[in-house]
Amino acid sequence: MKKPITIIRYDSLKECFLSFIEGDEVGDNDYWEGYDGGRKFRVNVKKWLNKCKRKCWGWADYKPKTIHIWVDIDCPIEDSIEMLAHESAHLRRPRYKNKMEEEKKANRSGEDAKFAYNAAIDIDRWTI
Ligand SMILES: [Zn+2]
Repeated sequence: MKKPITIIRYDSLKECFLSFIEGDEVGDNDYWEGYDGGRKFRVNVKKWLNKCKRKCWGWADYKPKTIHIWVDIDCPIEDSIEMLAHESAHLRRPRYKNKMEEEKKANRSGEDAKFAYNAAIDIDRWTI
């Protein structure tokens, strides 16, 4: 039987990020390297937290299977669905050692979920 995925929700992006780095505070010179849109990026964490335009963010922990999320109150539901599907994909095999490939896998899953959501709510316009 598949193990269920636990979701832990945080009140702020900063709290969610601190759980990701297992830290109590973000220093002025802390940097984070991530992968997005097929490219690697490196950002100053403090600046990223202050300027982030995202309305949701999350990260996945393999053991135990947990998705840590922050979702702003005015986050569009399609964005939170995309983020949840993205993080859920990180918990699925195959798990690529190449971080860029792993992110691409998760991005595809998120995009598919967003597409399915938008298609489903647009069902009245479907032609038979
Ligand atoms: Zn990811």
